[in-house]
Amino acid sequence: MNKPVLLTVDDDPQVLAAMRRDLRSRYREQYTVVSAGSGDEALATVRELKSRGDSLAMVISDQRMPGMLGNEVLAKSRDLYPLARRVLLTAYSDINAAIKAINEAHLDYYLSKPWDPPDEHLFPVIDDLLDAWQAEYLPEAKGLRLVGHQWSPQSHAIKDFLASSLIPYRWLDVEREAETRVLLEAVGVRAEELPVLMFEDGSVLRNPDPRHVAERLGRSLSAAYDVYDLVIVGAGPAGLAAAVYGASEGLRTLLLDRHAPGGQAGSSSRIENYLGFPTGVSGSELTRRAFTQAQRLGAELLAPLEVTGVSIDAGYKRLTLADGRVIATRTMAVATGMIYREHPAPGVAEHTGAGVYYGAATTEAPAFSGRRVLIAGGGNSAGQGAMHLARYAKDVQIVVRRDNLRDTMSQYLIDQIKKTPNIRLRLRTEIAGVEGNGHVERIVLTSLEDGKCRTEEADALFVFVGTRPQTDWLPPDVLRDAKGFVLTGRELMAAPPYSRIWKESREPLPLETSVPGAFAAGDVRAGAMNRVASAVGEGAMVVRLAHEYMALT
Ligand SMILES: Cc1cc2nc3c(=O)[nH]c(=O)nc-3n(C[C@H](O)[C@H](O)[C@H](O)COP(=O)(O)OP(=O)(O)OC[C@H]3O[C@@H](n4cnc5c(N)ncnc54)[C@H](O)[C@@H]3O)c2cc1C
Repeated sequence: MNKPVLLTVDDDPQVLAAMRRDLRSRYREQYTVVSAGSGDEALATVRELKSRGDSLAMVISDQRMPGMLGNEVLAKSRDLYPLARRVLLTAYSDINAAIKAINEAHLDYYLSKPWDPPDEHLFPVIDDLLDAWQAEYLPEAKGLRLVGHQWSPQSHAIKDFLASSLIPYRWLDVEREAETRVLLEAVGVRAEELPVLMFEDGSVLRNPDPRHVAERLGRSLSAAYDVYDLVIVGAGPAGLAAAVYGASEGLRTLLLDRHAPGGQAGSSSRIENYLGFPTGVSGSELTRRAFTQAQRLGAELLAPLEVTGVSIDAGYKRLTLADGRVIATRTMAVATGMIYREHPAPGVAEHTGAGVYYGAATTEAPAFSGRRVLIAGGGNSAGQGAMHLARYAKDVQIVVRRDNLRDTMSQYLIDQIKKTPNIRLRLRTEIAGVEGNGHVERIVLTSLEDGKCRTEEADALFVFVGTRPQTDWLPPDVLRDAKGFVLTGRELMAAPPYSRIWKESREPLPLETSVPGAFAAGDVRAGAMNRVASAVGEGAMVVRLAHEYMALT
């Protein structure tokens, strides 16, 4: 197979030669560097690569070129290679144009000229972007393959697990891809055994659950120690931050997640407001970085492994895991965040995983290429989901009860939605039902203006409304508010049962729950800000507070 291509575009022959020279000096072993002297030539090259079945890893284009501007070249190359990383080369005076191009061309980075010395200004950026590309991209004939029915909830569960665990795989729908039947016959898998996961060595797992998949992929699901300094339950942004700080400060740290690292943020197609990522960052990329960082610093991660209960014994917290094992810890962090509540409309429950998906826009979007999908919800997560789905589906409708998006969605997303022709808004409308034979075929909508019902053809409903805290596993000693969010610090002291439950001679520390030494961070906490940055901040705080607690005991 040919090496993946790095394409560099500039109308100035000297700059083009310098970029080509620098890229070749470092990447020639793994990549082929190709150059083009204009936007038209670059797009012709991109089309040729596609027709040859070659992979394009990155396009680096100068902004100011006669004929076609760099951001246009980048935007157009996206149609054929959506995963290729896009870098705009700008003079200092063009930085505003580059910032504007972030949304239109889905820019991954803008690089100022000159980039000398490349070891400082060019290679670290390109290394990072190529690492991210490698993590997502899968060469045609290789790697892990999942074969199943699009409308099977089991297929969805495995897809969701693999995607959240950042494991590249190829999805083969038995109904859409004729060659899969031959493949199944060759490995001796019957229709009732689907979904099936096929490994590169020819072995298969028939209708596996995520735990079996994790084990088969060599992920450890056993804790290395019996006792820890800090156990963190939930590996969303709050849990991952606590793991990074805990491990870096020398605590014996264990992180557990019932699904995979990333949490809600992991399902986001593009987080635009997290500090330090001017071009935005996908949830999976942020997770990949945080998870690698936590592991490098020495934190242990077990997933998928659910914590089902916790008891307190002489100051130690004993956590019961879904497989019946018990782990003891001096301090713990509750970072189990929130989950979408089941939508109450008739037909939703029986179609969940078969056309109704909770939040899973990034996992399922490619399966809805050329189809019609509806989104329930008007928050930022719904807006991001709509933008992502619009890259694949022919028609995306956002259904909201309110008469505008202003109160619930950030302006940058409202602007992006307005500019996207295949997204429509259905204001003052409610999802009243889902119908279909084995999968979603029709959705019933009620207008809140006149109460009239309409049934419309649709292939999927993505639900982004109604969240609840994931706190069912906590004992009653951990006080919660009326909605189930965990009370900490000052809010805890204001709760009526506080004096009956809190028996320490000191006041609770900030983020400390009604169980001394058990802290809560992120969305699960009463009064949380529901942002990636605040969850990360609280996760980091927990570690400092855990030290304080251990010094007191
Ligand atoms: C689609 C989407 C887009 C978003 N976009 C943005 C954005 O652009 N900017 C922004 O700032 N915020 C955004 N948010 C909000 C942000 O993602 C959340 O505020 C943040 O993820 C909260 O982090 P957390 O660690 O507290 O909890 P979560 O992210 O909810 O993670 C909790 C984790 O705990 C695990 N867990 C739960 N129960 C158990 C158990 N019993 N045992 C083991 N593990 C368990 C779950 O599997 C999960 O992985 C978005 C949210 C969504 C859904």
